Parts: sequence; C-alpha cells; structure tokens
Amino acid sequence: MTTATPREMLTEALGALGATLRHHRDLGFTALPLAGEYLLSPAEALRAQERALAGCRRCKLCEGRTTIVFGAGNPRADLVCIGEGPGADEDAQGLPFVGRAGQLLTKMLASVDIPRDEAYISNTVKCRPPGNRNPEADELAACAPFLAAQLAVIQPKVILSLGSVATQALLGTREAIGKLRGKVHPYGSAVLIPTFHPAFLLRNPGPEYRRMAWEDLKLAKREYDRRRTK
Ligand code: SF4
Repeated sequence: MTTATPREMLTEALGALGATLRHHRDLGFTALPLAGEYLLSPAEALRAQERALAGCRRCKLCEGRTTIVFGAGNPRADLVCIGEGPGADEDAQGLPFVGRAGQLLTKMLASVDIPRDEAYISNTVKCRPPGNRNPEADELAACAPFLAAQLAVIQPKVILSLGSVATQALLGTREAIGKLRGKVHPYGSAVLIPTFHPAFLLRNPGPEYRRMAWEDLKLAKREYDRRRTK
C-alpha cells in the first residue's frame, strides 16, 4: 500500500470540494455562506442545527417546555423513527423516547434485529405539548422545517412513523393510521412505514394491535435490509 504525498492529498481534497460546489451549482445555488452545512459531516451538521434551534419561540409550545428535544441517534442512520412530540420524561432529560414508550420502542426495534443506536429518533415537534395533548396544526407547521432539515442531513432509507399524528403530518393526509399502516409509502428518496405509537400500544396491549405492530416492523425491516444493500 502506498502512502499519499501531501500534494496528492491536497489534490484529492480540492477535487472533492470542486465536486461539492458543482453539485450545489446544479441544485441552483448561486452563492454559499462560508459556514454552510454543506461542508460539515452529518454529525456536525446536526449539532449545528441543534445549536441554531436553541431558545426557539416559533410556536406556543415554547411556553411550557423545559427542554427542546432535538433528536438523538446515529447521524448516518438508514432508519429514522419519528414520533409526535416529547413527553414528560423527554422534556426533563432533553432526549427523545426515554420513558416507558421509549423502552418499548427499543424492544420493538430489537425484535427485528435493529439496535436502537443504529437508528436516529426524533419527533414532529421538538417541545412538549402541555398535558401530552396532540400537537396542533400551527405547531406542526412551525416545527416541520426542522425535521425536514434533519432528514436532509441524515438521508435515511426508511422512516418509521409512530402513531397517527406523525404519520399524518409527514404524509400530509387526514387518513386514519389504521388505513395508512401496513403499506410502504414513497417519501422522497426514502420510504415511510407507519405503525402505532408505542405509548398507544402500552395503553392498548391487546394482541390484535401488537400483531399489527409486529407486521409493520417486519415490513420496515424488509425495506431496511433491501434498501441498505442497494
Ligand atoms: S415546537 Fe418547534 S417550532 Fe415550536 S417552539 Fe419548539 S422547536 Fe420551536
């Protein structure tokens, strides 16, 4: 194995920068800020987004929150799980899905051989709705660009949407989760697979819901394996 000389390394770095700039020109950019995320790794870009979100007051959920729960996990994840919003435990700790529902989500992923730390986990709104009510339309709209920016950095292959609020918000529909689940929905360059929210499964532990959730997870795993090897 030969070691690259400093000259060769510089040539390679400049070639990569040129390719990045040509890519952005082809996307229609005519100017780029010096601190743009396009020069950052996914982990750095997500940290920059989280810093930029600090103190956000773009919707009324800011009034009752303790912490903005940005999201956590693998910045290069092929699977992203998206719930509706932080609960009390998440609000206190600043991390998504850390309460009982989070423990169930970890088990759900493990049941199809996906370690939780291989995935990235976030929510449609980053601040806890008071009393764990559903996020309202204006709150979902205010926070949507932040989730979109996260997904643009991570570029997952599969999105597992958890519950009706997240699924309807992401797919832009009012159709019930019962009709949306069990199917693979195109979502940009990824696919979206809806399933029940773990908190719903904890409240409704009937075998029928668990069986449907298991079917959804197997579907997500099938897409995960198939699309990762492409
Ligand atoms: S929910 Fe989103 S848009 Fe609303 S205050 Fe929190 S971070 Fe900002």
